[in-house]
Order: sequence, then structure tokens, then C-alpha cells
Amino acid sequence: MESGGDVLLVDCGICCRTLLSRCRAAGIDPRRIVAAVFTHNHDDHVKGLATFHKRFPGVELYANIMTADAISARTGVGADEFILFENGQSFTVGPFDIKPFSIPHDVPDPVGYLVRAEGVTYFHATDVGAPLDSIGVNLAAADVATLESNHDPVMLMQSNRPEALKRRIRGDRGHLANDDAAYLVRRFASARLKRLALAHLSRECNAPHLAEAAMRAALREMGRCDVELSLLDQDDVSTWSYPRA
Ligand SMILES: [Zn+2]
Ligand SMILES: [Zn+2]
Repeated sequence: MESGGDVLLVDCGICCRTLLSRCRAAGIDPRRIVAAVFTHNHDDHVKGLATFHKRFPGVELYANIMTADAISARTGVGADEFILFENGQSFTVGPFDIKPFSIPHDVPDPVGYLVRAEGVTYFHATDVGAPLDSIGVNLAAADVATLESNHDPVMLMQSNRPEALKRRIRGDRGHLANDDAAYLVRRFASARLKRLALAHLSRECNAPHLAEAAMRAALREMGRCDVELSLLDQDDVSTWSYPRA
């Protein structure tokens, strides 16, 4: 997300070199990154942090205490390098007003974010085990949203993944199925929502057309075919810039 020349990073899950090249592809000078906020300690969210932090030691790192400890154990970046917050307590970084909120996932104290800048509110929640009302009320405040649409339950069931992993993914501290994401939007998104990106799609257990169809059906039911819908690809750069409602 960017505002007034400042850029806010959510997580640091790709290697630093890839992050820098994607910044350039998106027209963002990485030296404008002022802070990174973290959702949780899984590898796909912190893999690039150690190198990034070495290269850009001036970028502030924000996490709650359990996440900071868990990220530190995984990456070697000292827990005392993080500026701490508590879920539910808003804080400000440069032009960004940030509200971290709790989400269910199988890690210590995972986080979703509402970020407000230039009058636009951005919602960010991936790695969400269940479509809880407490997440929906935050989605209701969003003009722009990134929401996990992780898997299709049938594809997950039929995949070669070990049974324990399948159980974990579909468990209520795992990941959101396409229909769960569609339910959250149908039930909670308000007239404010203009743009929605589906994220964290499983390669093996989802297909972009299924994620898109589930969400388009929800938007149609709501009479909201005007919402600009896009699907984020792990290996690609989104052309979206935030904020722009
Ligand atoms: Zn995760
Ligand atoms: Zn993840």
C-alpha cells in the first residue's frame, strides 16, 4: 500500500531479490518502503525478511509479541527489532492508520489488517481458518480488499496431499475455501467496497476460474457486479496500486 510517497509492506514472504524486482515492475522504489507489518510466522510470509532487514535496516517492523517471537525463531531477526502492537489496538505509521485484528490460523496470535490512508480503507486477510463475524465487520469497513480464497473443497479432497494436511487446511485454523470467501463478502461487504482481490490461491487444490466463479456469483446475488474483481498470482505482480477506491 502506498500513500504520499511512503510504502507499507504487508509480510515479507518472497525472497528479497524477487521483492525488489517486483517493486520495480510495479513502479515502486523500494527505498520508499517505510514499514512492514506482519500477519504471522509461516514461511510463505516471512521467508525474505532476514535479507530484507539486513539490506533495509531503517524499515520499521511491526508485529504483535507472539508473532514477533515466532518470526524471530524462524528467521533469526531479533524479536527486539520489532515494534510491538496488540491486536485490536490501532496505531499510526507515517500516513497509514493501521488496525490489526485477530484471525483464526494455526499459529500464535495471527493478524489481519485494516489500513486507512488518503480516506481509503484497505482490508487484508489471508490464512484465515473460518469466515468469522469478527473478520466480516472489518471487511464491512473496506473500500478495497485482499481476501484469501484458498481452495476448492473437492479439489482439496482429491489432491495427493497427506490426510493430516488436508484436515489442517480445511480445519477452522487453516485456510478459507472459495465458498467461505464468497460468504464473507456476501454477508459483510458494504456499498463502500469497490475493488476486491482474491489471494493465497492454492496451486494444487484450487483453480482460478473456480475461485472467480464463486465470488462472481456472490457479487451478482448482492447486485454488485460493479466491484472490480481480480485474482492475485503468487508469481506475478498485481497492477493494482493502493489506495485508489
Ligand atoms: Zn499461514
Ligand atoms: Zn500463507
